[in-house]
Amino acid sequence: KIPETPASNKHPKQLYMLFFAEMWERFSFYGMKALLLAYMVTELKFDEPKGYAILGSYAALVYTMPMFGGAMSDKFLGGRKAVMFGGILMVIGHLVLAIPEDWSFFYGMAFIICGNGFFKPNISSLVGTLYADNDPRKDSAFSIFYMGINIGAALGGLLCGYVGQQINWHYGFGLAAIFMIVGLVVFWMGKKTLPGGLPPDPAALKRSLFAGLSQEVIIYGATLLLIPVIVGLFHRYELMDFIMFGLGAVSLGYILYTAFQLEKVARFKLFAALVMIVFSTLFWAFYEQNAGSLNLFAMRNVDMHVFGTKLPALAVNNFLPPAWVIVLSFFFAWLWPALNRKNLEPGTPLKFGISFLFLGAGFYVFYWGCQTTETGLISLLTFVLGYFFIICGEMCISPIGLSMITKLSPAKIVAMMMGIWFFASAIGEFLAAKIGARMSVPENVVNNPIQSLPYYADILSQIGLYSFGIGVLLILCVPLIKRWMGDVR
Ligand code: GLN
Repeated sequence: KIPETPASNKHPKQLYMLFFAEMWERFSFYGMKALLLAYMVTELKFDEPKGYAILGSYAALVYTMPMFGGAMSDKFLGGRKAVMFGGILMVIGHLVLAIPEDWSFFYGMAFIICGNGFFKPNISSLVGTLYADNDPRKDSAFSIFYMGINIGAALGGLLCGYVGQQINWHYGFGLAAIFMIVGLVVFWMGKKTLPGGLPPDPAALKRSLFAGLSQEVIIYGATLLLIPVIVGLFHRYELMDFIMFGLGAVSLGYILYTAFQLEKVARFKLFAALVMIVFSTLFWAFYEQNAGSLNLFAMRNVDMHVFGTKLPALAVNNFLPPAWVIVLSFFFAWLWPALNRKNLEPGTPLKFGISFLFLGAGFYVFYWGCQTTETGLISLLTFVLGYFFIICGEMCISPIGLSMITKLSPAKIVAMMMGIWFFASAIGEFLAAKIGARMSVPENVVNNPIQSLPYYADILSQIGLYSFGIGVLLILCVPLIKRWMGDVR
């Protein structure tokens, strides 16, 4: 049962339980992601285009699986079981990665992919179940939750990035495992207090379907069978193009099909969500240079010296974005209600449009750094400033998007829609790696900043330019999207 809207602005205590569970999950997730590309290129000696292709396949699959995990939760498992199952798979994945053997790498990633598919969309929609749709606390709940995500990401990027790069890659991955266990224990202890997240039909879930196996066991088993398939895909990553394209078409078809089953108002709401989901793909394609090309850029072309000490580049590059999110969360938590009181708060679609303008500004700052340096190294301050703008952009799209999905989707497919929201990130990440690969630096110049810089500068400026263009286009579409959204802001 959804709790009534109380008179006070206080949030239910379950929000903080979900906050801590997600915080530690993101610690481990971003901690290992910080290391991934650099580990492949410098330790496994993959050539750069291959490193990008595997990073892209991994990230794409990580954000594709939530569609499956979301659908399984809506139809069969309910959010609580789905989050537990996903969390266990993620723990196994991080532990496997910590094993210093060649085979462990692809297997560890495959477990994390499947685990994330069950964990991520469902913990996000559990936040939505704590509030009624028009509860004014809902947006702020998602901002608080987003803060948890980023505290975890900042600590993970910092600690795993440092330990992995400076001490031992596998210790870095191992650290991620420990914190994933903490996240899971927090959720396990608190899940009984949640108002929602139970299986829609608990009896059916336990009933034997065939050969004594219940629905529930079959879902878990089928997921485990996917693991070797995913490992195979890492070996044949060229197949990923077809998979991502095919799934993109299928999910588009799914939303359109679902929309046409609905009555008019609900249908247009879903159309509005669809348009914003499509734009978000492009946002992530540019933004996610962070976990790809910008990791290597930070190692090669950013002057990491502060007062005579050299900071570890991976830790800095992966700490900065979530750290800015945390700082800016306070600012935006003040800004939106302040604008709202004056009736000036932009609606969701306009915020999406503005996010691209910020994103473009951030990449232009990086580009400007490249144009003005004589040593081939841009200053740390420029790097920090570039991320400031990029993260202002993130604040206008990512937490807003989560909340938008829970408001614009019909209740019985909300976890699935959350899955599709993350699938937009999947395509985005996949494209991001393709863009990143265009910044591959030949082996013989990787240690020469003056010579490696031009490989980055051009593409960074193009990303900036495209972001501005897309932002303007989206702003032009705002009146139409607003009409489709009806009473939702
Ligand atoms: N940084 C956010 C998170 O980890 C958003 C990621 C995304 O949607 N691509 O939850």
